[in-house]
Amino acid sequence: MLCAVRRGILGGTFDPLHVVHLMAGEAARHLLGLDVISFVTAGDPYQKHGIPMSNKQQRWDMTVLGVEGIEYFEADDREVQRLGPSYMIDTLDTFDAGEEIFLILGADAAAGLPTWHRWEEVVDRTTVAVISRPGVAEEEVAATGAPYIWLDTPGIPISSTQLRARAEAGRSIRFFVPDPVWRYVEENKLYATA
Ligand code: ATP
Ligand code: MG
Repeated sequence: MLCAVRRGILGGTFDPLHVVHLMAGEAARHLLGLDVISFVTAGDPYQKHGIPMSNKQQRWDMTVLGVEGIEYFEADDREVQRLGPSYMIDTLDTFDAGEEIFLILGADAAAGLPTWHRWEEVVDRTTVAVISRPGVAEEEVAATGAPYIWLDTPGIPISSTQLRARAEAGRSIRFFVPDPVWRYVEENKLYATA
């Protein structure tokens, strides 16, 4: 008998993709026995409208560069290819119905699930797996009422917002992001202010 694919989905803006994204994927893979983790780059992160952001090609490039060489991680461009707001429910509908899908979320994202488009359907279709994030208590996640698995991982206080600010201030972000991402940011002067 063929076993269903156990797929993790880790969606993000990835501006830039950083090491905690990779650690979250690895923790989920290891603790939940997943076959593959799809890093889904948000094409139009509608909840971030009004916040300055690298364009979707650049964010996609950083996703590809960030996961390259890791055999069970894959960069997934289905939201980048799709027009309109990137709703997770639409993304989930494009995966084979036979797959078992684990939605990997930082605690901030998990606490915000009820703000997502058709969020109950997202929760029905997937198993939500939550990575702890400094500043967000597990109670905030529990308060959504959605079932979830809490992955026992250390909280690491790194965010893309903070890394963009670091780079803009002329400080190094090397080793906060995978090296190929760091090189890409440098070569394209992605967060340079001058
Ligand atoms: P930004 O500051 O631009 O929002 P971010 O660091 O939050 O960037 P995203 O691309 O927004 O990164 O997040 C993608 C996913 O990774 C989300 O589920 C988010 O909660 C999770 N994530 C990102 N950084 C962390 C972290 N330090 N700890 C736990 N989860 C994280
Ligand atoms: Mg975020």
